[in-house]
Parts: sequence; C-alpha cells; structure tokens
Amino acid sequence: MTDPEESLCPDCGDTGWAVVEAGGRRLARRCACHGAKRAAALLDRARIPRRYRTCTLANFEVHNESHRDALKIAGQFIKNYPVQDVGLLFLGPCGVGKTHLAVAILRELLAAKNVRCLFTDFRDLIRDIQNTYTPDSAVSESDILAPVFECRVLVLDELGAKRPSPWVEETVFYIINHRYNQRKLTIFTSNYPDTDEDEDKRQPMFKKSGFAPKDDSLVDRIGVRLRSRIYEMCKVVEMTGPDYRKIAKQASYRF
Ligand SMILES: [Zn+2]
Repeated sequence: MTDPEESLCPDCGDTGWAVVEAGGRRLARRCACHGAKRAAALLDRARIPRRYRTCTLANFEVHNESHRDALKIAGQFIKNYPVQDVGLLFLGPCGVGKTHLAVAILRELLAAKNVRCLFTDFRDLIRDIQNTYTPDSAVSESDILAPVFECRVLVLDELGAKRPSPWVEETVFYIINHRYNQRKLTIFTSNYPDTDEDEDKRQPMFKKSGFAPKDDSLVDRIGVRLRSRIYEMCKVVEMTGPDYRKIAKQASYRF
C-alpha cells in the first residue's frame, strides 16, 4: 500500500510545519507542501471526476461564438463570486464543453477563493438517493444530501439524463429549492433542449422506456415545476456545435 504520492513529506512529516534554524533558534514555518496538499484535499472533497480534473478556463477550446460567450460568462462568474447571485444552466448537445466550463469554475473558485464546492452527476445523485430507500442501506438519505446542501457552489451535471421516480423527483426539487432559499449557487449542465412549452406532457407514471429520448425536451425530463425553479435561479447559457470530443478522438485514431 505504498503510494509514492502518499508518502510523508521529508521536511515536515505531513504536519504542514517545518522546523527551521534561524539565528540560532528553531522556528516552525509553513512547509512548502502545505499549499499543494490543501489544494489537493479541496479537490478531493469537491469530487471532481478524474477525467475532468485538468479542465480550466485557459484550456477551454473556443470553436464558435457560443463558446466565446460561455467562456466569458464563466470568467465573470468566478470574478463576481461571492457577489454573484445567480447560478448557471449550460444547455447544449454532447461534447460542446458544458462540463468542462462547469468544472473550470469549481476549480478556480477552489484555488483562488477557497470556496467549498461539489461536483455531482445527476444520475449518480438519483441512484444514491434511490439506494437509501432499500431496507438494508448502510447510508441514510441525509448522508447523501448533507454535502449537496452544504457546499457553497454545486455542479449538477447531466440534468435530466435519468428520469427520477416521482418520490425521487420530489427529493430533487427539495434539494434545488433548499439551495435557492439559502442563496447558494448551483451550476447545471443538460443535453436536453429547452422549449417554450410550459406543459408537462409526461404520463403520471412517465413514458414507457423505448421512446427515443432524443425527442425529449428538458421539461419532459424534469417537469415544469423544477424547470421553472431552475430558471429563476440560473442564467441560461446555450452552447452549440458538433461533438468536439468525438472529433478529437477520431482524429487521434491512425490507420
Ligand atoms: Zn511538508
């Protein structure tokens, strides 16, 4: 179990304080490893998935006007925090960089302003909440929800990617509404297009699977009530373009 990254710091033994000799006296000084470890700990606590950990505003690729606008808004959000009083809803197809920008905001807030942030995938959150309803679950709903309630800035990635059951939908609304009432900021990303329809066309037990989900709008996936709450608490940032991740990946395959 010896991970070189986890071995003790030779200068401070991981206390964060190094003893130095100055003018014949021994003094404790902040060790050079302290800042890096603190930053790593904050990143761990924010639960940013490994594949997104290198996402920054600086390495975000601008391919069109919508990207330029989105990047500008992301930069403004970081600059304004904590005066910033609305969250963001990044809307657009797969691979246009919505999650990249959402993560870049978290990372810069962590690094520059020490803000307590959390990244959550919508599907994982729903699954985790649903799992707590099983009788032998070792974790309670409040174990799952506490960090989601407490963080100052939350990223909820892939909104609508999974249809919650009616009672889980109630919990999701409760989470979002609680954050809204506490004036805590939430950044959403979603692949589902938004339409001007305010009608919730879902059947009471939801459409049977087999329907092409690509025809769904955001309202179809999360309902009118949650969608309208999210619109009250977020600026909508629409991003367009082809799937740049796919293009980059295909270009890297050589035959
Ligand atoms: Zn050290």
